[in-house]
Amino acid sequence: MSQKHPSFFQSVERNFDRAAAHTGLPKGLLEQIKVCNAVYQMRFPVKIGGEVQVIEAYRVQHSHHRLPTKGGIRYAMSVNQDEVMALAALMTYKCAIVDVPFGGAKGGIKINPRQFSEYELEKVTRRYTTELIRKNFIGPGIDVPAPDYGTGAREMAWILDTYQTFKHGEIDAAGCVTGKPVSQNGIRGRTEATGRGVFYALREVMSFEDDMKKLGLTKGIAGKTMVVQGLGNVGYYAAKISTTEGDVKLIGVAEYEGSIHKPDGIDVDALMKHRKETGSILNFPGATNLPKREDALELECDILVPAALENQITPENAPRIKAKIIAEAANGPVMADAEETLLKKGIMIIPDMYINAGGVTVSYFEWLKNLSHMRFGRMEKRFNSNTYENLVSTVERLTGKVIGPKERSILTRGADEIDLVNSGLEETMIEAYRQIRDVYVSNPDIKDMRTAAFVSALNKISSDYMALGIFP
Ligand code: NAD
Repeated sequence: MSQKHPSFFQSVERNFDRAAAHTGLPKGLLEQIKVCNAVYQMRFPVKIGGEVQVIEAYRVQHSHHRLPTKGGIRYAMSVNQDEVMALAALMTYKCAIVDVPFGGAKGGIKINPRQFSEYELEKVTRRYTTELIRKNFIGPGIDVPAPDYGTGAREMAWILDTYQTFKHGEIDAAGCVTGKPVSQNGIRGRTEATGRGVFYALREVMSFEDDMKKLGLTKGIAGKTMVVQGLGNVGYYAAKISTTEGDVKLIGVAEYEGSIHKPDGIDVDALMKHRKETGSILNFPGATNLPKREDALELECDILVPAALENQITPENAPRIKAKIIAEAANGPVMADAEETLLKKGIMIIPDMYINAGGVTVSYFEWLKNLSHMRFGRMEKRFNSNTYENLVSTVERLTGKVIGPKERSILTRGADEIDLVNSGLEETMIEAYRQIRDVYVSNPDIKDMRTAAFVSALNKISSDYMALGIFP
Protein backbone atom coordinates (compact mmCIF):
# COMPACT_ATOMS: atom_id res chain seq x y z
CA MET A 1 0.00 0.00 0.00
CA SER A 2 1.36 3.44 -0.84
CA GLN A 3 2.41 5.65 2.07
CA LYS A 4 -0.08 8.41 1.30
CA HIS A 5 -2.93 6.38 2.81
CA PRO A 6 -3.28 6.12 6.59
CA SER A 7 -2.24 2.75 8.00
CA PHE A 8 -4.99 0.39 9.26
CA PHE A 9 -4.38 1.41 12.87
CA GLN A 10 -4.34 5.09 11.90
CA SER A 11 -7.68 4.53 10.11
CA VAL A 12 -9.16 3.09 13.30
CA GLU A 13 -7.73 6.00 15.31
CA ARG A 14 -9.14 8.51 12.83
CA ASN A 15 -12.61 6.98 13.13
CA PHE A 16 -12.23 6.90 16.91
CA ASP A 17 -11.33 10.61 17.03
CA ARG A 18 -14.31 11.52 14.83
CA ALA A 19 -16.66 9.72 17.23
CA ALA A 20 -14.90 10.87 20.43
CA ALA A 21 -15.77 14.47 19.55
CA HIS A 22 -19.45 13.58 20.08
CA THR A 23 -19.02 12.04 23.53
CA GLY A 24 -17.88 14.89 25.80
CA LEU A 25 -15.67 12.39 27.67
CA PRO A 26 -12.47 13.63 29.38
CA LYS A 27 -9.34 13.71 27.19
CA GLY A 28 -7.30 11.42 29.47
CA LEU A 29 -10.01 8.79 29.51
CA LEU A 30 -10.35 8.85 25.72
CA GLU A 31 -6.58 8.51 25.38
CA GLN A 32 -6.56 5.51 27.73
CA ILE A 33 -9.35 3.84 25.76
CA LYS A 34 -7.62 4.50 22.44
CA VAL A 35 -4.11 3.13 23.09
CA CYS A 36 -3.01 -0.52 22.98
CA ASN A 37 -2.26 -1.71 26.53
CA ALA A 38 0.20 -4.47 25.67
CA VAL A 39 1.99 -5.45 22.46
CA TYR A 40 3.94 -8.70 22.33
CA GLN A 41 6.09 -9.14 19.25
CA MET A 42 7.86 -12.46 18.98
CA ARG A 43 10.25 -14.29 16.66
CA PHE A 44 10.75 -18.02 17.00
CA PRO A 45 12.47 -20.71 14.97
CA VAL A 46 10.56 -23.62 13.43
CA LYS A 47 12.10 -26.33 11.26
CA ILE A 48 10.19 -26.39 7.99
CA GLY A 49 11.16 -28.96 5.35
CA GLY A 50 14.62 -29.47 6.91
CA GLU A 51 15.36 -25.71 7.07
CA VAL A 52 14.94 -23.47 10.07
CA GLN A 53 12.56 -20.58 9.44
CA VAL A 54 12.34 -17.63 11.81
CA ILE A 55 8.64 -16.87 12.24
CA GLU A 56 7.34 -13.36 13.00
CA ALA A 57 4.25 -13.29 15.21
CA TYR A 58 2.24 -10.98 17.46
CA ARG A 59 -0.34 -10.85 20.21
CA VAL A 60 -1.79 -7.46 21.09
CA GLN A 61 -4.05 -6.81 24.06
CA HIS A 62 -5.72 -3.52 23.29
CA SER A 63 -7.73 -3.00 26.46
CA HIS A 64 -7.58 -4.52 29.93
CA HIS A 65 -10.65 -2.70 31.23
CA ARG A 66 -12.37 -6.07 31.18
CA LEU A 67 -10.74 -9.46 31.41
CA PRO A 68 -10.09 -11.77 29.77
CA THR A 69 -9.13 -10.04 26.55
CA LYS A 70 -10.45 -11.69 23.43
CA GLY A 71 -9.72 -11.79 19.72
CA GLY A 72 -8.84 -14.05 16.81
CA ILE A 73 -5.52 -15.23 15.44
CA ARG A 74 -4.72 -14.52 11.81
CA TYR A 75 -2.34 -16.43 9.55
CA ALA A 76 -1.45 -14.25 6.58
CA MET A 77 1.54 -12.63 4.90
CA SER A 78 -0.06 -9.23 5.50
CA VAL A 79 0.38 -9.59 9.27
CA ASN A 80 2.38 -6.79 10.87
CA GLN A 81 2.25 -4.94 14.17
CA ASP A 82 0.07 -2.13 12.85
CA GLU A 83 -2.51 -4.57 11.47
CA VAL A 84 -2.71 -6.60 14.69
CA MET A 85 -3.01 -3.41 16.77
CA ALA A 86 -5.87 -2.18 14.57
CA LEU A 87 -7.68 -5.52 14.78
CA ALA A 88 -7.20 -5.66 18.57
CA ALA A 89 -8.62 -2.15 18.96
CA LEU A 90 -11.66 -3.08 16.85
CA MET A 91 -12.21 -6.06 19.17
CA THR A 92 -12.51 -3.76 22.21
CA TYR A 93 -15.21 -1.67 20.54
CA LYS A 94 -16.91 -4.76 19.11
CA CYS A 95 -17.19 -6.46 22.50
CA ALA A 96 -18.66 -3.29 24.02
CA ILE A 97 -21.21 -2.93 21.22
CA VAL A 98 -22.59 -6.44 21.69
CA ASP A 99 -22.26 -6.40 25.50
CA VAL A 100 -19.69 -9.16 25.66
CA PRO A 101 -17.66 -8.60 28.84
CA PHE A 102 -14.16 -8.82 27.36
CA GLY A 103 -11.35 -6.44 26.47
CA GLY A 104 -10.08 -6.52 22.89
CA ALA A 105 -7.07 -8.48 21.63
CA LYS A 106 -5.75 -9.98 18.40
CA GLY A 107 -2.96 -12.26 17.27
CA GLY A 108 -1.18 -12.80 14.01
CA ILE A 109 1.46 -15.02 12.49
CA LYS A 110 3.16 -13.81 9.32
CA ILE A 111 2.93 -16.92 7.16
CA ASN A 112 1.04 -18.01 4.09
CA PRO A 113 -0.76 -21.11 5.42
CA ARG A 114 -1.28 -22.41 1.86
CA GLN A 115 2.48 -22.94 1.60
CA PHE A 116 2.71 -25.03 4.79
CA SER A 117 1.79 -28.67 5.27
CA GLU A 118 -0.67 -29.57 8.02
CA TYR A 119 2.22 -30.92 10.11
CA GLU A 120 4.17 -27.66 9.71
CA LEU A 121 1.12 -25.57 10.59
CA GLU A 122 0.69 -27.63 13.73
CA LYS A 123 4.33 -27.06 14.70
CA VAL A 124 4.00 -23.28 14.17
CA THR A 125 0.71 -23.12 16.09
CA ARG A 126 2.02 -25.12 19.05
CA ARG A 127 5.22 -23.05 19.23
CA TYR A 128 3.22 -19.80 19.08
CA THR A 129 0.99 -21.04 21.91
CA THR A 130 4.07 -21.94 23.97
CA GLU A 131 5.37 -18.39 23.54
CA LEU A 132 2.00 -17.03 24.70
CA ILE A 133 2.04 -19.31 27.77
CA ARG A 134 5.60 -18.26 28.61
CA LYS A 135 4.65 -14.59 28.72
CA ASN A 136 1.29 -15.19 30.43
CA PHE A 137 -0.55 -14.01 27.31
CA ILE A 138 -3.13 -16.80 27.23
CA GLY A 139 -5.58 -18.32 29.73
CA PRO A 140 -9.33 -18.46 30.40
CA GLY A 141 -9.10 -15.41 32.68
CA ILE A 142 -6.26 -13.66 30.83
CA ASP A 143 -6.53 -13.69 27.05
CA VAL A 144 -8.64 -16.04 24.91
CA PRO A 145 -7.83 -16.41 21.19
CA ALA A 146 -10.27 -17.55 18.47
CA PRO A 147 -10.20 -18.16 14.71
CA ASP A 148 -9.68 -15.39 12.18
CA TYR A 149 -8.44 -15.15 8.61
CA GLY A 150 -6.46 -18.28 7.72
CA THR A 151 -7.31 -20.22 10.90
CA GLY A 152 -10.21 -22.39 12.06
CA ALA A 153 -11.31 -25.05 14.53
CA ARG A 154 -8.27 -27.24 13.77
CA GLU A 155 -5.79 -24.58 14.89
CA MET A 156 -7.88 -23.86 18.00
CA ALA A 157 -7.74 -27.57 18.95
CA TRP A 158 -3.92 -27.49 18.71
CA ILE A 159 -3.85 -24.38 20.90
CA LEU A 160 -6.03 -26.03 23.56
CA ASP A 161 -3.98 -29.21 23.53
CA THR A 162 -0.72 -27.29 23.93
CA TYR A 163 -2.19 -25.20 26.75
CA GLN A 164 -3.46 -28.28 28.58
CA THR A 165 -0.07 -29.94 28.27
CA PHE A 166 1.51 -27.06 30.17
CA LYS A 167 -1.38 -26.39 32.54
CA HIS A 168 -2.22 -29.91 33.54
CA GLY A 169 -5.07 -29.98 36.07
CA GLU A 170 -6.28 -26.42 35.42
CA ILE A 171 -10.02 -27.02 35.68
CA ASP A 172 -11.11 -24.23 33.31
CA ALA A 173 -8.38 -24.84 30.74
CA ALA A 174 -10.89 -25.45 27.92
CA GLY A 175 -11.84 -21.77 28.16
CA CYS A 176 -8.34 -20.68 27.05
CA VAL A 177 -9.43 -20.56 23.40
CA THR A 178 -12.75 -20.53 21.52
CA GLY A 179 -13.84 -21.70 18.08
CA LYS A 180 -12.76 -25.25 18.98
CA PRO A 181 -14.26 -28.33 17.32
CA VAL A 182 -17.57 -29.28 18.97
CA SER A 183 -16.06 -32.63 19.94
CA GLN A 184 -13.27 -30.82 21.82
CA ASN A 185 -15.15 -28.44 24.07
CA GLY A 186 -16.45 -26.25 21.26
CA ILE A 187 -20.02 -25.08 20.83
CA ARG A 188 -22.54 -25.75 18.09
CA GLY A 189 -23.06 -22.73 15.83
CA ARG A 190 -19.62 -21.12 16.33
CA THR A 191 -18.32 -21.95 12.84
CA GLU A 192 -21.14 -20.11 11.09
CA ALA A 193 -21.68 -17.48 13.83
CA THR A 194 -20.03 -14.49 12.13
CA GLY A 195 -21.83 -15.07 8.82
CA ARG A 196 -25.11 -15.77 10.61
CA GLY A 197 -24.63 -12.56 12.60
CA VAL A 198 -24.13 -10.64 9.34
CA PHE A 199 -27.50 -11.98 8.16
CA TYR A 200 -29.33 -11.11 11.41
CA ALA A 201 -27.79 -7.63 11.35
CA LEU A 202 -28.75 -6.97 7.73
CA ARG A 203 -32.29 -8.21 8.31
CA GLU A 204 -32.62 -5.84 11.28
CA VAL A 205 -31.07 -2.85 9.48
CA MET A 206 -33.38 -3.37 6.52
CA SER A 207 -36.49 -3.64 8.67
CA PHE A 208 -36.62 0.16 9.19
CA GLU A 209 -38.78 1.51 6.39
CA ASP A 210 -37.68 5.16 6.65
CA ASP A 211 -33.98 4.27 6.60
CA MET A 212 -34.44 2.08 3.54
CA LYS A 213 -36.50 4.72 1.75
CA LYS A 214 -33.55 7.12 2.01
CA LEU A 215 -31.44 4.54 0.18
CA GLY A 216 -34.11 4.05 -2.48
CA LEU A 217 -34.91 0.57 -1.17
CA THR A 218 -38.08 -1.04 0.04
CA LYS A 219 -38.23 -2.40 3.59
CA GLY A 220 -37.06 -5.97 4.19
CA ILE A 221 -34.16 -8.13 3.10
CA ALA A 222 -36.14 -10.56 0.89
CA GLY A 223 -35.50 -10.22 -2.84
CA LYS A 224 -32.53 -7.85 -2.42
CA THR A 225 -29.35 -8.41 -4.43
CA MET A 226 -25.99 -9.16 -2.83
CA VAL A 227 -22.34 -9.28 -3.88
CA VAL A 228 -19.79 -11.02 -1.65
CA GLN A 229 -16.00 -10.65 -1.67
CA GLY A 230 -14.24 -13.67 -0.11
CA LEU A 231 -16.03 -17.00 0.22
CA GLY A 232 -14.17 -18.07 3.35
CA ASN A 233 -15.71 -18.74 6.72
CA VAL A 234 -17.49 -15.39 7.07
CA GLY A 235 -18.36 -14.76 3.40
CA TYR A 236 -19.61 -18.27 2.70
CA TYR A 237 -21.98 -18.40 5.68
CA ALA A 238 -23.16 -14.81 5.16
CA ALA A 239 -24.04 -15.70 1.55
CA LYS A 240 -25.48 -19.12 2.37
CA ILE A 241 -27.73 -17.97 5.23
CA SER A 242 -28.83 -14.74 3.50
CA THR A 243 -29.89 -16.66 0.39
CA THR A 244 -31.55 -19.60 2.15
CA GLU A 245 -33.13 -17.93 5.18
CA GLY A 246 -33.47 -14.36 3.89
CA ASP A 247 -34.39 -14.97 0.23
CA VAL A 248 -31.54 -12.72 -0.90
CA LYS A 249 -30.24 -13.06 -4.47
CA LEU A 250 -26.45 -13.51 -4.66
CA ILE A 251 -25.48 -11.95 -8.00
CA GLY A 252 -21.70 -11.55 -7.75
CA VAL A 253 -18.69 -13.09 -6.01
CA ALA A 254 -15.05 -12.03 -5.81
CA GLU A 255 -12.43 -14.55 -4.73
CA TYR A 256 -8.67 -14.74 -4.80
CA GLU A 257 -8.59 -15.96 -8.40
CA GLY A 258 -11.19 -13.59 -9.89
CA SER A 259 -14.76 -12.29 -9.97
CA ILE A 260 -18.00 -13.59 -11.42
CA HIS A 261 -21.39 -12.01 -12.18
CA LYS A 262 -24.70 -13.84 -12.54
CA PRO A 263 -27.72 -11.51 -12.35
CA ASP A 264 -30.26 -14.34 -12.01
CA GLY A 265 -28.62 -15.61 -8.82
CA ILE A 266 -25.78 -17.89 -7.73
CA ASP A 267 -26.31 -21.07 -5.73
CA VAL A 268 -23.41 -20.69 -3.29
CA ASP A 269 -23.04 -24.41 -2.60
CA ALA A 270 -22.95 -25.18 -6.33
CA LEU A 271 -20.26 -22.49 -6.65
CA MET A 272 -18.23 -23.99 -3.79
CA LYS A 273 -18.49 -27.42 -5.46
CA HIS A 274 -17.38 -25.93 -8.78
CA ARG A 275 -14.42 -24.27 -7.04
CA LYS A 276 -13.43 -27.53 -5.37
CA GLU A 277 -13.55 -29.40 -8.67
CA THR A 278 -11.84 -26.81 -10.87
CA GLY A 279 -9.76 -24.88 -8.33
CA SER A 280 -11.49 -21.62 -9.22
CA ILE A 281 -14.80 -19.76 -9.09
CA LEU A 282 -14.24 -18.68 -12.70
CA ASN A 283 -16.19 -20.34 -15.54
CA PHE A 284 -19.11 -21.12 -13.23
CA PRO A 285 -22.00 -22.25 -15.49
CA GLY A 286 -24.29 -19.33 -16.43
CA ALA A 287 -21.99 -16.68 -14.92
CA THR A 288 -19.78 -14.10 -16.63
CA ASN A 289 -16.11 -13.87 -15.64
CA LEU A 290 -15.09 -10.30 -14.83
CA PRO A 291 -11.68 -9.09 -15.99
CA LYS A 292 -10.21 -8.17 -12.60
CA ARG A 293 -10.55 -9.83 -9.21
CA GLU A 294 -11.84 -6.61 -7.57
CA ASP A 295 -14.43 -5.99 -10.31
CA ALA A 296 -17.31 -7.60 -8.41
CA LEU A 297 -17.01 -4.86 -5.78
CA GLU A 298 -18.18 -2.37 -8.40
CA LEU A 299 -21.29 -4.26 -9.51
CA GLU A 300 -24.70 -2.64 -9.16
CA CYS A 301 -26.35 -4.32 -6.14
CA ASP A 302 -28.33 -3.57 -3.00
CA ILE A 303 -25.84 -5.08 -0.51
CA LEU A 304 -22.08 -5.39 -0.90
CA VAL A 305 -20.43 -7.73 1.60
CA PRO A 306 -16.63 -7.41 1.67
CA ALA A 307 -15.61 -10.51 3.66
CA ALA A 308 -11.92 -10.95 2.78
CA LEU A 309 -9.42 -8.47 4.22
CA GLU A 310 -8.95 -4.80 5.12
CA ASN A 311 -8.38 -1.88 2.71
CA GLN A 312 -10.43 -3.24 -0.18
CA ILE A 313 -12.48 -0.11 -0.85
CA THR A 314 -9.98 2.64 -1.48
CA PRO A 315 -10.15 6.30 -2.56
CA GLU A 316 -9.41 4.94 -6.04
CA ASN A 317 -12.36 2.54 -6.44
CA ALA A 318 -14.82 4.25 -4.03
CA PRO A 319 -16.29 6.54 -6.71
CA ARG A 320 -17.22 3.44 -8.74
CA ILE A 321 -18.99 1.53 -5.92
CA LYS A 322 -22.70 1.23 -6.78
CA ALA A 323 -24.04 -0.73 -3.80
CA LYS A 324 -26.65 0.92 -1.58
CA ILE A 325 -25.45 -0.81 1.60
CA ILE A 326 -21.93 -1.93 2.46
CA ALA A 327 -21.93 -4.61 5.16
CA GLU A 328 -18.39 -4.73 6.56
CA ALA A 329 -18.18 -8.45 7.28
CA ALA A 330 -14.37 -8.23 7.12
CA ASN A 331 -12.51 -5.98 9.52
CA GLY A 332 -11.57 -2.62 8.04
CA PRO A 333 -12.52 -3.23 4.39
CA VAL A 334 -13.25 0.48 3.81
CA MET A 335 -10.21 2.77 4.10
CA ALA A 336 -10.80 5.84 6.25
CA ASP A 337 -9.99 8.13 3.33
CA ALA A 338 -12.50 6.35 1.06
CA GLU A 339 -15.37 6.65 3.51
CA GLU A 340 -16.23 10.28 2.79
CA THR A 341 -16.75 9.52 -0.91
CA LEU A 342 -19.08 6.63 -0.10
CA LEU A 343 -21.11 8.62 2.43
CA LYS A 344 -21.45 11.52 -0.03
CA LYS A 345 -22.88 9.06 -2.53
CA GLY A 346 -25.52 8.20 0.08
CA ILE A 347 -24.22 4.67 0.69
CA MET A 348 -24.99 3.22 4.11
CA ILE A 349 -21.95 1.58 5.70
CA ILE A 350 -22.76 -0.92 8.44
CA PRO A 351 -19.52 -0.97 10.41
CA ASP A 352 -17.35 -4.01 11.04
CA MET A 353 -17.34 -3.56 14.81
CA TYR A 354 -21.06 -4.25 14.79
CA ILE A 355 -21.85 -6.42 11.80
CA ASN A 356 -19.13 -9.03 12.25
CA ALA A 357 -19.57 -9.28 16.04
CA GLY A 358 -21.49 -12.58 15.77
CA GLY A 359 -18.24 -14.53 16.03
CA VAL A 360 -17.17 -13.03 19.34
CA THR A 361 -20.73 -13.28 20.64
CA VAL A 362 -20.86 -17.04 20.15
CA SER A 363 -17.25 -17.32 21.36
CA TYR A 364 -18.53 -15.75 24.57
CA PHE A 365 -21.22 -18.47 24.78
CA GLU A 366 -18.54 -21.11 24.19
CA TRP A 367 -16.35 -19.66 26.96
CA LEU A 368 -19.34 -19.66 29.34
CA LYS A 369 -20.06 -23.27 28.38
CA ASN A 370 -16.44 -24.17 29.15
CA LEU A 371 -16.52 -22.44 32.53
CA SER A 372 -19.84 -24.05 33.45
CA HIS A 373 -18.63 -27.47 32.21
CA MET A 374 -22.07 -28.13 30.78
CA ARG A 375 -23.78 -27.99 27.41
CA PHE A 376 -26.48 -25.35 27.00
CA GLY A 377 -29.96 -26.83 27.19
CA ARG A 378 -28.97 -29.90 29.20
CA MET A 379 -30.90 -28.85 32.31
CA GLU A 380 -34.09 -27.50 30.74
CA LYS A 381 -34.60 -29.23 27.40
CA ARG A 382 -36.47 -32.29 28.66
CA PHE A 383 -38.39 -30.34 31.32
CA ASN A 384 -39.64 -27.84 28.71
CA SER A 385 -40.49 -30.58 26.27
CA ASN A 386 -42.55 -32.43 28.91
CA THR A 387 -44.36 -29.20 29.87
CA TYR A 388 -45.26 -28.48 26.20
CA GLU A 389 -46.39 -32.09 25.82
CA ASN A 390 -48.77 -31.66 28.76
CA LEU A 391 -50.05 -28.38 27.30
CA VAL A 392 -50.74 -29.92 23.90
CA SER A 393 -52.49 -32.91 25.50
CA THR A 394 -54.63 -30.57 27.61
CA VAL A 395 -55.62 -28.52 24.52
CA GLU A 396 -56.50 -31.77 22.71
CA ARG A 397 -58.60 -33.00 25.62
CA LEU A 398 -60.45 -29.68 26.00
CA THR A 399 -61.13 -29.19 22.28
CA GLY A 400 -61.68 -32.84 21.38
CA LYS A 401 -59.32 -32.37 18.42
CA VAL A 402 -56.09 -34.21 17.70
CA ILE A 403 -52.88 -32.38 16.68
CA GLY A 404 -50.96 -34.19 13.92
CA PRO A 405 -47.57 -35.82 14.70
CA LYS A 406 -45.54 -33.26 12.68
CA GLU A 407 -47.12 -30.24 14.37
CA ARG A 408 -46.93 -31.99 17.72
CA SER A 409 -43.19 -32.55 17.43
CA ILE A 410 -42.66 -28.85 16.54
CA LEU A 411 -44.85 -27.66 19.43
CA THR A 412 -43.33 -29.92 22.06
CA ARG A 413 -39.65 -29.58 21.26
CA GLY A 414 -37.27 -28.40 23.99
CA ALA A 415 -34.40 -26.17 22.91
CA ASP A 416 -31.07 -27.75 21.97
CA GLU A 417 -27.72 -26.04 22.26
CA ILE A 418 -27.84 -24.84 18.65
CA ASP A 419 -31.32 -23.31 19.14
CA LEU A 420 -30.16 -21.42 22.21
CA VAL A 421 -26.94 -20.25 20.56
CA ASN A 422 -28.75 -18.96 17.48
CA SER A 423 -31.44 -17.33 19.58
CA GLY A 424 -28.82 -15.62 21.78
CA LEU A 425 -26.99 -14.45 18.67
CA GLU A 426 -30.17 -13.13 17.04
CA GLU A 427 -31.15 -11.23 20.18
CA THR A 428 -27.64 -9.77 20.49
CA MET A 429 -27.48 -8.52 16.89
CA ILE A 430 -30.97 -6.99 17.06
CA GLU A 431 -30.44 -5.28 20.42
CA ALA A 432 -26.99 -3.92 19.48
CA TYR A 433 -28.34 -2.41 16.26
CA ARG A 434 -31.22 -0.76 18.08
CA GLN A 435 -28.74 0.83 20.51
CA ILE A 436 -26.56 2.11 17.65
CA ARG A 437 -29.56 3.40 15.73
CA ASP A 438 -30.84 5.18 18.84
CA VAL A 439 -27.52 7.05 19.07
CA TYR A 440 -27.76 7.87 15.36
CA VAL A 441 -31.34 9.08 15.47
CA SER A 442 -31.00 11.09 18.68
CA ASN A 443 -27.80 12.94 17.61
CA PRO A 444 -28.41 14.97 14.44
CA ASP A 445 -24.66 15.81 14.34
CA ILE A 446 -23.82 12.14 13.82
CA LYS A 447 -24.03 11.46 10.10
CA ASP A 448 -23.03 7.81 9.80
CA MET A 449 -23.47 4.43 11.45
CA ARG A 450 -19.76 3.92 12.18
CA THR A 451 -19.62 7.05 14.30
CA ALA A 452 -22.85 6.03 16.05
CA ALA A 453 -21.43 2.55 16.76
CA PHE A 454 -18.21 4.06 18.14
CA VAL A 455 -20.16 6.44 20.38
CA SER A 456 -22.28 3.56 21.68
CA ALA A 457 -19.07 1.60 22.44
CA LEU A 458 -17.26 4.56 24.03
CA ASN A 459 -20.14 5.31 26.36
CA LYS A 460 -20.09 1.72 27.64
CA ILE A 461 -16.29 1.44 27.96
CA SER A 462 -16.07 4.77 29.77
CA SER A 463 -18.67 3.56 32.30
CA ASP A 464 -16.48 0.52 32.92
CA TYR A 465 -13.46 2.71 33.60
CA MET A 466 -15.51 4.91 35.94
CA ALA A 467 -16.66 1.78 37.76
CA LEU A 468 -13.01 0.77 38.19
CA GLY A 469 -12.57 4.05 40.04
CA ILE A 470 -9.62 5.13 37.89
CA PHE A 471 -11.45 8.06 36.34
CA PRO A 472 -13.78 10.19 38.44
P1 NAD B 1 -11.04 -17.05 5.74
O1 NAD B 1 -9.57 -17.28 5.68
O2 NAD B 1 -11.93 -18.17 6.15
O3 NAD B 1 -11.59 -16.53 4.33
C1 NAD B 1 -11.13 -15.43 3.63
C2 NAD B 1 -11.47 -15.63 2.16
O4 NAD B 1 -11.12 -14.43 1.43
C3 NAD B 1 -10.67 -16.77 1.51
O5 NAD B 1 -11.56 -17.60 0.81
C4 NAD B 1 -9.70 -16.05 0.57
O6 NAD B 1 -9.37 -16.82 -0.58
C5 NAD B 1 -10.50 -14.80 0.22
N1 NAD B 1 -9.65 -13.69 -0.26
C6 NAD B 1 -8.44 -13.30 0.18
N2 NAD B 1 -8.02 -12.21 -0.50
C7 NAD B 1 -8.99 -11.91 -1.38
C8 NAD B 1 -9.16 -10.89 -2.36
N3 NAD B 1 -8.24 -9.96 -2.55
N4 NAD B 1 -10.30 -10.88 -3.08
C9 NAD B 1 -11.27 -11.81 -2.89
N5 NAD B 1 -11.17 -12.80 -1.97
C10 NAD B 1 -10.05 -12.85 -1.23
O7 NAD B 1 -11.20 -15.79 6.70
P2 NAD B 1 -12.48 -15.37 7.56
O8 NAD B 1 -12.35 -15.98 8.90
O9 NAD B 1 -13.71 -15.58 6.74
O10 NAD B 1 -12.19 -13.81 7.74
C11 NAD B 1 -12.51 -12.86 6.73
C12 NAD B 1 -12.60 -11.48 7.35
O11 NAD B 1 -13.60 -11.49 8.37
C13 NAD B 1 -11.33 -10.97 8.02
O12 NAD B 1 -11.26 -9.57 7.87
C14 NAD B 1 -11.56 -11.31 9.48
O13 NAD B 1 -10.80 -10.48 10.36
C15 NAD B 1 -13.03 -11.04 9.59
N6 NAD B 1 -13.70 -11.70 10.73
C16 NAD B 1 -13.65 -13.05 10.89
C17 NAD B 1 -14.31 -13.65 11.96
C18 NAD B 1 -14.37 -15.14 12.15
O14 NAD B 1 -15.12 -15.59 13.04
N7 NAD B 1 -13.68 -15.95 11.37
C19 NAD B 1 -15.00 -12.84 12.89
C20 NAD B 1 -15.04 -11.47 12.69
C21 NAD B 1 -14.39 -10.92 11.60
